[in-house]
Amino acid sequence: MRQRAARDQQRLDSGAVTSPKDLENLQREIVSLAKRQGDLEDVVLEVMERRESAQERVAELTERVGSVQGKVDDAVARRDAAFEEIDAEVATVTKEREVVAAAVPADLLKLYEKLREQQGGVGAAKLYQRTCQGCRQELAITELNEIRAAAPDTVVRCENCRRILVRTAESGL
Ligand SMILES: [Zn+2]
Repeated sequence: MRQRAARDQQRLDSGAVTSPKDLENLQREIVSLAKRQGDLEDVVLEVMERRESAQERVAELTERVGSVQGKVDDAVARRDAAFEEIDAEVATVTKEREVVAAAVPADLLKLYEKLREQQGGVGAAKLYQRTCQGCRQELAITELNEIRAAAPDTVVRCENCRRILVRTAESGL
C-alpha cells in the first residue's frame, strides 16, 4: 500500500498526468491510501498491545503454577517423611510386641487375641478407679470384691465387655 501511494505520488510529481480529472482522482487515491494506512497502523498497535498484555498474563500464570508446584512438592516430601516415620514406628512396635507376647502364656495370649478381634482391636483394658477403660463402665461392688479377693496372677475380666482387666495401683481396689 505504501508502494502504491509512493507510485501515485511519483506520477503526480512527474507532471505526466495533466488532465484535471485524472489529477483529482490521483490525489483522492493518495488521501484514501494514507487513511487506510493510518487505520491499519492503529490495528497493528492494538494487536501489539493485546499481545503484550497476553504475555504478561502468561508470565503471571507461569509464576503461579511454579508456586503451586512448589507447595505440592513440599507436601509430597512431608507425606513421604511421615510415611517413613510411621513405617519405622510400626517396625519398632511390632518387635516390642513380639518380645512381650513371647512372655505371655499361650492360653492367655489366645484369649487376648480372640477378645481383641471381638472388641475392635482392644482385648485388654486398664482398671482405673474402679472403671474398665475398655467400655468405660464402673464395676459393681460384688465384682470389685471378687477382683480384690483374686490372686495377683488370676486373669480377671470385665463383666460388661469381657475384656481382660489389668490391675494397677490406681485401680481403686
Ligand atoms: Zn469393660
